[in-house]
Amino acid sequence: MDCLFCKITEGSIPSQKVFENERILVFKDIQPAAPVHVLIIPKKHIGSMNDVEEQDLPLIAEMHQVAQQVAKELGVAESGYRLINNCGPDSGQAVHHIHYHLIGGAKLGALTGISDSHA
Ligand code: 5GP
Ligand code: ZN
Repeated sequence: MDCLFCKITEGSIPSQKVFENERILVFKDIQPAAPVHVLIIPKKHIGSMNDVEEQDLPLIAEMHQVAQQVAKELGVAESGYRLINNCGPDSGQAVHHIHYHLIGGAKLGALTGISDSHA
C-alpha cells in the first residue's frame, strides 16, 4: 500500500519515535506547529475516522490511553495540550492514515473555524 504512515510504521521511512507497542506508534511531526507536536497512529492502516469499524474501537480507545501517557512523558500533561484529528477534505487531512496530532508546550491559539485555505 502506498501510504506514508504505513512506510513509517514499517521503518522504510525514518521517524523520530516517541512511543511504540505492537499496535500503536507515536513519532514527532516533521513540521511541528508547537514545541510539542507528535502524531499518534495505529500500525493498522485505517484511512480516516470515517473508516473506523466497530472492531477498531479498542484500538481507538488505546490511542487515547497512549496520548495520555505520552503527554505525561513529554511534560505537557499539566500545562495542557490539544488532540486533533483531521478527517476529509474540509479539515485539510493530508495523510490518509488515521492519526491524532498531540500539540502543546505553548499557549495554543483558539480553534480555527472557516478558512479560505488549508495552509
Ligand atoms: P494531516 O494534515 O493529515 O492531519 O497531518 C499530516 C501531518 O503529517 C502533518 O502535520 C505533516 O507535517 C506530517 N508529516 C508529513 N509527512 C511527514 C513525514 O514524512 N514524517 C513526519 N514525521 N511527519 C510528516
Ligand atoms: Zn497507512
